[in-house]
Amino acid sequence: MSRTADLRSDTVTKPTPEMYRAMADAELGDNVLETDPTVGRLESLAAEMTGMEAALFMPSGTMGNQCALATHTNPGDSVIFEDQAHMIWYEGGGPAIFSGVITRGLPTRDGTITPQQLSETVLTRSEHTPGTTLVCLENSHNRHGGAVTTVSQPAALKEAADEAGIRVHLDGARMFNASAALGVDIKEITGLVDTANFCLSKGLASPIGSLLCGPSDFITEAAFWRKRLGGGMRQAGILAACGIVSLTQMVERLTEDHERTQALSGHVAGLPGIDPVDAPTNILVMNTVRTAEEWMNELEKHGVRTLPFDKHRLRAVLHKDIGDAELKTALEGFSKSAEALA
Ligand SMILES: *Cc1c(COP(=O)(O)O)cnc(C)c1O
Repeated sequence: MSRTADLRSDTVTKPTPEMYRAMADAELGDNVLETDPTVGRLESLAAEMTGMEAALFMPSGTMGNQCALATHTNPGDSVIFEDQAHMIWYEGGGPAIFSGVITRGLPTRDGTITPQQLSETVLTRSEHTPGTTLVCLENSHNRHGGAVTTVSQPAALKEAADEAGIRVHLDGARMFNASAALGVDIKEITGLVDTANFCLSKGLASPIGSLLCGPSDFITEAAFWRKRLGGGMRQAGILAACGIVSLTQMVERLTEDHERTQALSGHVAGLPGIDPVDAPTNILVMNTVRTAEEWMNELEKHGVRTLPFDKHRLRAVLHKDIGDAELKTALEGFSKSAEALA
Protein backbone atom coordinates (compact mmCIF):
# COMPACT_ATOMS: atom_id res chain seq x y z
CA MET A 1 0.00 0.00 0.00
CA SER A 2 1.30 3.45 -0.83
CA ARG A 3 1.91 5.97 1.91
CA THR A 4 -0.18 9.03 2.51
CA ALA A 5 1.12 12.49 3.33
CA ASP A 6 -1.12 14.46 5.69
CA LEU A 7 -0.12 18.08 5.11
CA ARG A 8 -3.32 19.65 6.45
CA SER A 9 -1.57 20.97 9.55
CA ASP A 10 1.30 20.32 11.95
CA THR A 11 -1.40 19.64 14.55
CA VAL A 12 -1.94 16.14 13.08
CA THR A 13 1.28 14.76 14.57
CA LYS A 14 1.01 11.68 16.78
CA PRO A 15 2.90 11.46 20.09
CA THR A 16 6.43 10.00 19.95
CA PRO A 17 7.29 6.71 21.76
CA GLU A 18 9.09 8.84 24.40
CA MET A 19 5.85 10.78 24.94
CA TYR A 20 3.85 7.59 25.53
CA ARG A 21 6.46 6.47 28.07
CA ALA A 22 6.48 9.88 29.75
CA MET A 23 2.67 9.79 30.02
CA ALA A 24 2.76 6.36 31.66
CA ASP A 25 5.42 7.43 34.16
CA ALA A 26 4.14 10.94 34.94
CA GLU A 27 3.78 11.95 38.57
CA LEU A 28 0.27 13.44 38.89
CA GLY A 29 -1.79 15.74 41.11
CA ASP A 30 -5.00 17.75 40.87
CA ASN A 31 -3.91 20.84 38.96
CA VAL A 32 -7.01 22.79 40.05
CA LEU A 33 -6.57 22.15 43.78
CA GLU A 34 -2.78 22.48 43.68
CA THR A 35 0.00 22.41 41.11
CA ASP A 36 0.29 18.99 39.47
CA PRO A 37 4.03 18.22 39.84
CA THR A 38 4.53 17.43 36.15
CA VAL A 39 2.63 20.53 35.06
CA GLY A 40 4.81 22.50 37.49
CA ARG A 41 7.97 21.10 35.91
CA LEU A 42 6.74 21.93 32.40
CA GLU A 43 5.80 25.48 33.40
CA SER A 44 9.19 26.07 35.05
CA LEU A 45 10.98 24.72 32.00
CA ALA A 46 8.96 26.96 29.67
CA ALA A 47 9.61 30.02 31.83
CA GLU A 48 13.32 29.26 31.92
CA MET A 49 13.60 28.67 28.16
CA THR A 50 11.68 31.85 27.28
CA GLY A 51 13.36 33.98 29.94
CA MET A 52 9.96 34.89 31.40
CA GLU A 53 9.14 34.92 35.12
CA ALA A 54 6.36 32.36 34.83
CA ALA A 55 4.37 30.16 32.47
CA LEU A 56 0.92 28.63 32.50
CA PHE A 57 -0.15 25.36 30.87
CA MET A 58 -3.16 25.89 28.60
CA PRO A 59 -5.45 23.37 26.88
CA SER A 60 -5.03 25.17 23.55
CA GLY A 61 -3.32 28.05 21.83
CA THR A 62 -6.66 29.74 21.40
CA MET A 63 -7.32 29.71 25.13
CA GLY A 64 -3.79 30.92 25.84
CA ASN A 65 -4.18 33.87 23.48
CA GLN A 66 -7.66 34.77 24.67
CA CYS A 67 -6.66 34.56 28.34
CA ALA A 68 -3.72 36.83 27.55
CA LEU A 69 -5.99 39.31 25.80
CA ALA A 70 -8.51 39.31 28.65
CA THR A 71 -5.75 39.75 31.22
CA HIS A 72 -4.05 42.61 29.37
CA THR A 73 -7.18 44.65 28.58
CA ASN A 74 -10.41 46.13 29.87
CA PRO A 75 -13.70 46.01 27.91
CA GLY A 76 -13.85 48.86 25.39
CA ASP A 77 -10.07 49.04 24.89
CA SER A 78 -8.73 49.24 21.37
CA VAL A 79 -6.27 46.45 20.47
CA ILE A 80 -4.00 46.40 17.42
CA PHE A 81 -3.43 43.25 15.35
CA GLU A 82 -1.95 42.43 12.00
CA ASP A 83 -4.89 42.19 9.60
CA GLN A 84 -4.45 38.44 8.93
CA ALA A 85 -3.89 37.50 12.60
CA HIS A 86 -5.02 34.10 13.82
CA MET A 87 -6.44 35.82 16.91
CA ILE A 88 -9.02 37.66 14.78
CA TRP A 89 -9.52 35.09 11.99
CA TYR A 90 -9.68 31.76 13.77
CA GLU A 91 -10.48 32.16 17.46
CA GLY A 92 -14.26 32.26 17.27
CA GLY A 93 -14.59 35.99 17.82
CA GLY A 94 -13.04 35.58 21.26
CA PRO A 95 -11.79 39.18 21.48
CA ALA A 96 -15.39 40.46 21.21
CA ILE A 97 -16.89 37.82 23.51
CA PHE A 98 -14.39 37.43 26.35
CA SER A 99 -12.53 40.73 26.34
CA GLY A 100 -15.07 43.08 24.73
CA VAL A 101 -12.31 44.91 22.91
CA ILE A 102 -12.26 46.78 19.62
CA THR A 103 -9.92 45.04 17.20
CA ARG A 104 -7.97 47.04 14.63
CA GLY A 105 -6.28 44.94 11.94
CA LEU A 106 -3.36 46.60 10.14
CA PRO A 107 -2.70 45.32 6.61
CA THR A 108 0.90 44.33 5.91
CA ARG A 109 2.72 42.66 3.02
CA ASP A 110 4.61 40.12 5.13
CA GLY A 111 2.85 39.86 8.50
CA THR A 112 5.09 42.37 10.23
CA ILE A 113 3.60 45.60 11.58
CA THR A 114 6.01 48.53 11.29
CA PRO A 115 6.74 50.88 14.23
CA GLN A 116 5.35 53.76 12.16
CA GLN A 117 2.08 51.90 11.49
CA LEU A 118 1.81 51.19 15.19
CA SER A 119 2.46 54.78 16.27
CA GLU A 120 -0.08 56.06 13.75
CA THR A 121 -2.79 53.65 14.97
CA VAL A 122 -2.42 53.95 18.74
CA LEU A 123 -5.34 55.87 20.20
CA THR A 124 -5.09 57.90 23.38
CA ARG A 125 -8.10 57.52 25.59
CA SER A 126 -10.29 60.59 25.79
CA GLU A 127 -13.92 61.43 26.36
CA HIS A 128 -14.54 60.16 22.80
CA THR A 129 -11.83 57.66 22.00
CA PRO A 130 -11.25 54.14 23.26
CA GLY A 131 -7.59 54.00 24.31
CA THR A 132 -5.20 51.46 22.79
CA THR A 133 -3.65 49.23 25.46
CA LEU A 134 -2.17 46.29 23.57
CA VAL A 135 -0.65 45.18 20.27
CA CYS A 136 -0.65 41.49 19.32
CA LEU A 137 2.03 40.10 17.02
CA GLU A 138 2.23 36.73 15.28
CA ASN A 139 5.55 34.95 14.57
CA SER A 140 5.77 32.80 12.52
CA HIS A 141 2.72 34.12 10.70
CA ASN A 142 0.19 31.48 9.63
CA ARG A 143 -1.83 33.32 6.98
CA HIS A 144 1.34 34.89 5.59
CA GLY A 145 2.76 31.45 4.77
CA GLY A 146 4.81 30.92 7.92
CA ALA A 147 6.53 34.28 7.45
CA VAL A 148 9.16 35.12 10.06
CA THR A 149 9.72 38.50 11.63
CA THR A 150 13.41 39.22 12.07
CA VAL A 151 14.67 40.12 15.53
CA SER A 152 15.37 43.79 14.72
CA GLN A 153 11.78 44.45 13.59
CA PRO A 154 10.08 43.60 16.92
CA ALA A 155 12.87 45.42 18.75
CA ALA A 156 11.87 48.63 16.97
CA LEU A 157 8.22 47.80 17.48
CA LYS A 158 8.71 47.23 21.22
CA GLU A 159 10.34 50.65 21.42
CA ALA A 160 7.36 52.24 19.68
CA ALA A 161 4.96 50.33 21.96
CA ASP A 162 6.85 51.40 25.07
CA GLU A 163 6.80 54.96 23.85
CA ALA A 164 3.03 54.76 23.34
CA GLY A 165 2.61 53.09 26.73
CA ILE A 166 1.01 49.92 25.37
CA ARG A 167 1.92 46.28 25.98
CA VAL A 168 2.97 43.65 23.44
CA HIS A 169 1.61 40.10 23.27
CA LEU A 170 3.07 37.54 20.90
CA ASP A 171 0.88 34.85 19.39
CA GLY A 172 3.89 32.58 19.06
CA ALA A 173 2.00 29.40 18.25
CA ARG A 174 4.99 28.52 16.04
CA MET A 175 7.62 30.78 17.61
CA PHE A 176 10.10 27.89 17.85
CA ASN A 177 9.83 27.56 14.06
CA ALA A 178 10.65 31.26 13.84
CA SER A 179 13.70 30.95 16.10
CA ALA A 180 14.87 27.88 14.16
CA ALA A 181 14.52 29.76 10.85
CA LEU A 182 16.41 32.77 12.22
CA GLY A 183 19.00 30.59 13.95
CA VAL A 184 18.55 32.45 17.24
CA ASP A 185 17.72 31.36 20.78
CA ILE A 186 14.02 31.65 21.59
CA LYS A 187 14.87 34.27 24.24
CA GLU A 188 15.82 36.69 21.46
CA ILE A 189 12.20 36.56 20.34
CA THR A 190 10.46 36.42 23.73
CA GLY A 191 12.77 39.11 25.13
CA LEU A 192 11.08 41.65 22.86
CA VAL A 193 7.50 41.13 24.05
CA ASP A 194 5.68 41.34 27.38
CA THR A 195 3.87 38.01 27.05
CA ALA A 196 3.97 35.11 24.61
CA ASN A 197 1.89 32.03 23.94
CA PHE A 198 3.24 29.01 22.06
CA CYS A 199 1.78 25.65 21.04
CA LEU A 200 3.20 22.30 22.10
CA SER A 201 0.66 20.60 19.83
CA LYS A 202 2.02 21.78 16.47
CA GLY A 203 5.57 21.21 15.23
CA LEU A 204 6.65 20.23 18.73
CA ALA A 205 4.41 17.16 18.32
CA SER A 206 2.60 16.99 21.68
CA PRO A 207 -1.00 15.77 21.46
CA ILE A 208 -2.46 18.71 23.42
CA GLY A 209 -1.37 21.94 25.03
CA SER A 210 0.08 25.43 24.89
CA LEU A 211 2.08 27.61 27.26
CA LEU A 212 1.35 31.22 28.10
CA CYS A 213 4.51 32.94 29.37
CA GLY A 214 4.93 36.29 31.08
CA PRO A 215 5.47 38.18 34.35
CA SER A 216 4.35 36.42 37.56
CA ASP A 217 1.49 38.79 38.40
CA PHE A 218 0.20 38.55 34.83
CA ILE A 219 0.27 34.74 34.95
CA THR A 220 -1.62 34.69 38.26
CA GLU A 221 -4.39 36.76 36.69
CA ALA A 222 -4.32 34.67 33.49
CA ALA A 223 -4.84 31.54 35.61
CA PHE A 224 -8.06 33.11 36.87
CA TRP A 225 -9.20 33.63 33.26
CA ARG A 226 -8.22 30.05 32.39
CA LYS A 227 -10.43 28.74 35.17
CA ARG A 228 -13.25 31.10 34.23
CA LEU A 229 -13.17 29.84 30.62
CA GLY A 230 -13.31 26.23 31.78
CA GLY A 231 -9.65 25.44 31.28
CA GLY A 232 -8.95 24.07 34.77
CA MET A 233 -7.67 20.54 34.04
CA ARG A 234 -7.17 18.07 36.87
CA GLN A 235 -4.41 15.45 36.33
CA ALA A 236 -3.05 17.54 33.48
CA GLY A 237 0.45 16.18 34.16
CA ILE A 238 -0.41 13.35 31.81
CA LEU A 239 -0.36 15.95 29.01
CA ALA A 240 2.40 18.09 30.47
CA ALA A 241 4.67 15.01 30.42
CA CYS A 242 4.48 15.13 26.61
CA GLY A 243 5.17 18.86 26.69
CA ILE A 244 8.43 18.25 28.54
CA VAL A 245 9.46 15.82 25.79
CA SER A 246 8.48 18.48 23.21
CA LEU A 247 10.71 21.12 24.80
CA THR A 248 13.67 18.84 25.45
CA GLN A 249 13.64 16.66 22.32
CA MET A 250 11.53 18.19 19.57
CA VAL A 251 12.85 21.75 19.18
CA GLU A 252 16.14 21.00 17.40
CA ARG A 253 14.54 18.93 14.66
CA LEU A 254 12.25 21.73 13.39
CA THR A 255 14.87 22.72 10.79
CA GLU A 256 14.28 19.30 9.18
CA ASP A 257 10.66 20.31 8.53
CA HIS A 258 11.86 23.60 7.04
CA GLU A 259 14.23 21.75 4.70
CA ARG A 260 11.47 19.44 3.47
CA THR A 261 9.18 22.47 3.00
CA GLN A 262 11.86 23.95 0.74
CA ALA A 263 12.08 20.69 -1.21
CA LEU A 264 8.32 20.66 -1.73
CA SER A 265 8.29 24.36 -2.64
CA GLY A 266 11.06 23.88 -5.21
CA HIS A 267 9.18 20.99 -6.76
CA VAL A 268 5.83 22.82 -6.91
CA ALA A 269 7.53 25.87 -8.47
CA GLY A 270 8.27 23.73 -11.51
CA LEU A 271 4.65 22.67 -12.02
CA PRO A 272 2.02 24.46 -14.14
CA GLY A 273 -1.08 26.03 -12.60
CA ILE A 274 0.33 26.44 -9.10
CA ASP A 275 2.74 28.96 -7.65
CA PRO A 276 4.32 28.65 -4.20
CA VAL A 277 5.01 31.79 -2.16
CA ASP A 278 8.17 32.18 -0.12
CA ALA A 279 8.20 29.59 2.70
CA PRO A 280 10.86 30.30 5.33
CA THR A 281 9.44 27.80 7.85
CA ASN A 282 7.14 24.75 7.68
CA ILE A 283 4.08 26.31 5.99
CA LEU A 284 3.82 26.33 2.22
CA VAL A 285 1.14 28.57 0.74
CA MET A 286 0.46 28.13 -2.96
CA ASN A 287 -1.53 30.34 -5.33
CA THR A 288 -3.58 28.16 -7.66
CA VAL A 289 -5.09 28.86 -11.09
CA ARG A 290 -7.88 26.31 -10.58
CA THR A 291 -9.58 26.63 -7.19
CA ALA A 292 -7.77 25.50 -4.06
CA GLU A 293 -10.65 23.12 -3.43
CA GLU A 294 -10.12 21.42 -6.82
CA TRP A 295 -6.44 21.02 -5.93
CA MET A 296 -7.29 19.64 -2.51
CA ASN A 297 -9.69 17.07 -3.99
CA GLU A 298 -7.27 16.02 -6.73
CA LEU A 299 -4.33 15.72 -4.32
CA GLU A 300 -6.46 13.62 -2.00
CA LYS A 301 -6.81 11.00 -4.79
CA HIS A 302 -3.02 10.65 -4.73
CA GLY A 303 -2.75 10.31 -0.96
CA VAL A 304 -1.86 13.94 -0.24
CA ARG A 305 -4.02 15.89 2.17
CA THR A 306 -3.99 19.71 2.18
CA LEU A 307 -6.40 22.50 3.13
CA PRO A 308 -7.59 25.53 1.16
CA PHE A 309 -6.81 28.89 2.76
CA ASP A 310 -8.88 30.98 0.37
CA LYS A 311 -10.54 30.38 -3.00
CA HIS A 312 -7.21 30.29 -4.85
CA ARG A 313 -4.74 29.68 -2.03
CA LEU A 314 -3.82 26.20 -0.83
CA ARG A 315 -1.85 25.45 2.35
CA ALA A 316 0.48 22.52 3.06
CA VAL A 317 2.24 22.15 6.41
CA LEU A 318 5.21 19.91 7.12
CA HIS A 319 5.90 18.24 10.45
CA LYS A 320 7.63 15.34 12.16
CA ASP A 321 5.32 12.70 10.68
CA ILE A 322 6.38 13.75 7.16
CA GLY A 323 9.67 11.96 6.60
CA ASP A 324 11.42 11.43 3.29
CA ALA A 325 9.02 8.67 2.20
CA GLU A 326 5.96 10.88 2.84
CA LEU A 327 7.70 13.79 1.15
CA LYS A 328 8.14 11.59 -1.94
CA THR A 329 4.40 10.80 -1.84
CA ALA A 330 3.71 14.53 -1.69
CA LEU A 331 6.04 15.39 -4.61
CA GLU A 332 4.48 12.70 -6.80
CA GLY A 333 0.98 13.71 -5.75
CA PHE A 334 1.55 17.32 -6.74
CA SER A 335 3.00 16.27 -10.12
CA LYS A 336 0.05 13.98 -10.89
CA SER A 337 -2.44 16.61 -9.74
CA ALA A 338 -0.85 19.29 -11.91
CA GLU A 339 -1.21 16.93 -14.88
CA ALA A 340 -4.84 16.14 -14.07
CA LEU A 341 -5.79 19.79 -13.57
CA ALA A 342 -3.89 21.14 -16.59
C1 LIG B 1 -2.82 27.11 15.77
C2 LIG B 1 -2.66 28.54 16.07
C3 LIG B 1 -3.22 29.10 17.22
C4 LIG B 1 -4.19 28.37 18.14
O1 LIG B 1 -3.82 27.15 18.58
P1 LIG B 1 -4.90 26.01 18.94
O2 LIG B 1 -4.11 25.15 19.85
O3 LIG B 1 -5.24 25.36 17.65
O4 LIG B 1 -6.05 26.63 19.61
C5 LIG B 1 -2.96 30.43 17.47
N1 LIG B 1 -2.21 31.15 16.64
C6 LIG B 1 -1.67 30.65 15.52
C7 LIG B 1 -0.82 31.52 14.66
C8 LIG B 1 -1.88 29.32 15.18
O5 LIG B 1 -1.35 28.84 14.06
